[in-house]
Amino acid sequence: MSVTVGILGGTGAVGQRFIQLLDGHSEFELTTITASDDSAGKAYREAAKWRIDSPIPDYVGDIEVRATDPGEVPDDVDLLFSSLPSGVAADVEPEFTEAGYVVSSNSSNSRMADDVPLVIPEVNADHLNLIEVQRDERGWDGALVKNPNCSTITMVPTLAALDAFGLERVHVSTLQAVSGAGYDGVTSMEIIDNVIPHIGGEEEKMEAEPKKLLGSFDGSEIVQHDVDVAASCNRVPTLDGHLENVWAETDEEITKASAEEAFAGATTLDLPSAPDPLIEVFEDPDRPQPRLDRTLGNGMQVAVGGVQETPAGIQYNCLAHNTIRGAAGASVLNGELLVEEGWV
Ligand code: NAP
Repeated sequence: MSVTVGILGGTGAVGQRFIQLLDGHSEFELTTITASDDSAGKAYREAAKWRIDSPIPDYVGDIEVRATDPGEVPDDVDLLFSSLPSGVAADVEPEFTEAGYVVSSNSSNSRMADDVPLVIPEVNADHLNLIEVQRDERGWDGALVKNPNCSTITMVPTLAALDAFGLERVHVSTLQAVSGAGYDGVTSMEIIDNVIPHIGGEEEKMEAEPKKLLGSFDGSEIVQHDVDVAASCNRVPTLDGHLENVWAETDEEITKASAEEAFAGATTLDLPSAPDPLIEVFEDPDRPQPRLDRTLGNGMQVAVGGVQETPAGIQYNCLAHNTIRGAAGASVLNGELLVEEGWV
């Protein structure tokens, strides 16, 4: 089976990850890339400032970049991935869905909208059924599906595993890589020999998105989970891979052994980009580490270690690759689920 796909905003940092992950994909054939008007009309290799440590696939280098306009995208494109700046995406994505395209988006706009599925396939695949509500309410032939923020997506698979014990309260402190801010996001003068103890908007996303992801779809809306999350987000001088220290309090007593068993048994799916296991559990308290463990499962696995019982709940550290599991890989996995479930 081959599904023809395109990327909106394909010249940027996340767009380049999309291209890397779609190269040789077993189901998806990339034919179309859009970007800003400055890039439109140029061959991809001229338009993109390529920063991934593997070469631009030859066939991609030759693709002519198009303007980000539904009229510019060929009708035979079945699925679009989006990595546009969120302000641009907020205006443009609805134009594509109205024109009948299914959009699997990584941009932060509309993630918490009532009729937009926010999905991690291993956690809440059934939330895709919200697309019926979305189409009814908006009159769209297409559909808009979002993946969560990169720091949320690192932690939520672990919380889903612990929810069997009745998840009540979570505290999380993050150590987030500089690539999460984009290439121009943090200057070297700001971050070398330093930690920045605030990331604008990130704490709010980490506190809100888990409630929707862990909620249940009742046939017409998502009933949010009542877990309380408090987050403190820090930028640290690593390149890729967000490490997070989590304290989770549950209704039922939870031991180190039962938590590790729950993590190791987390749901896995039979989709091309889905890792197995979803969560790699380390006994070595020095792991996971960004440099050593961010590419586990081709960058799609979540790594957990340092599990211990504390007076503030079960405590552990988790890690995932922020531009793969946390961004482009997450949208590709959502795309695979959309195909598997017949929405594309
Ligand atoms: P980026 O490097 O700045 O790339 C932005 C892309 O959008 C480029 O292809 C750019 O094209 C295009 N674009 C910009 N303005 C446009 C316009 N007015 N019309 C059409 N296209 C336009 O950004 P990024 O770091 O890849 O992030 C993309 C999205 O993913 C953002 O919403 C971000 O919040 C989210 N995200 C990023 C990360 C991460 O780790 N970086 C993680 C999770 C989520 P040109 O090259 O022509 O300018």
